[in-house]
Amino acid sequence: MKKPLPEFYCPYSKECYQCCLDTEMTLSEEDITRIEKLGYIIEEFLEEKDGFMALRNIDGHCIFLKNKMCSIYELRPQGCRFYPIIYDFNIDDFVIDNLCEHHDDFDLEIYRPLFDSVQVFVYNLIGERETRMKRTMEEEIKVEVKESKEALEDPLTKEIKKIEREKEQIESLIEQAVIETQDEDVANLEEALKSEMRGIEEEIEELEKGIQSDLASAEEYIKITEDSIKSEIEELEKRRKNAEEDDN
Ligand code: SF4
Ligand code: SF4
Repeated sequence: MKKPLPEFYCPYSKECYQCCLDTEMTLSEEDITRIEKLGYIIEEFLEEKDGFMALRNIDGHCIFLKNKMCSIYELRPQGCRFYPIIYDFNIDDFVIDNLCEHHDDFDLEIYRPLFDSVQVFVYNLIGERETRMKRTMEEEIKVEVKESKEALEDPLTKEIKKIEREKEQIESLIEQAVIETQDEDVANLEEALKSEMRGIEEEIEELEKGIQSDLASAEEYIKITEDSIKSEIEELEKRRKNAEEDDN
């Protein structure tokens, strides 16, 4: 189990809550988990400030300040346990925060044994911030990549759909044209066959007419020939009779 960090007990905490007004106290992941276990929701008590997770204020004071007292005192954030000892990056040293109500009453040197712990805590906060910012940047990059991909894909998808629609229309036109062409061919063939049939029928009619005419001519000829032969026979008969009478 991790050894708890030492704490600074402010002797004025019963009467003073200045450091809980408009607080900018930043929390470690461990602080957050500990407070979440009390039933609080992160969005309810925290806000992100430049990558750090800071306590939320309501009406100008920390969300956990109730009746001028810290309502989570036993489980309060580690930074609140060190305050007013802070690490000032501008001078690269530990100081008593000059925003503390009793700033001048504290002798920093007395609290020197806490410095290492404060520094460990501060560097831990910075490390967690870097991890958080890296994660946020990675998520932002992922969103940007996704959006860029979508921005590229969207027109492409639209274009592909448009081409597919055009392809379907062309296929439908070709299909229709094939059907129409086939219909036209069949109709043309039918018409050609009918026309040929009509021609053949006309030829047959002509032939029949010719045959009828030839038959009529032949019958006429036969009749005329018969009549001529009959007259010749009659003439010959007459002559024969006349000759017989002459002989008698
Ligand atoms: S958590 Fe408690 S001690 Fe820390 S700022 Fe809020 S009210 Fe004050
Ligand atoms: S402002 Fe200073 S004196 Fe007042 S409670 Fe906070 S640390 Fe103590």
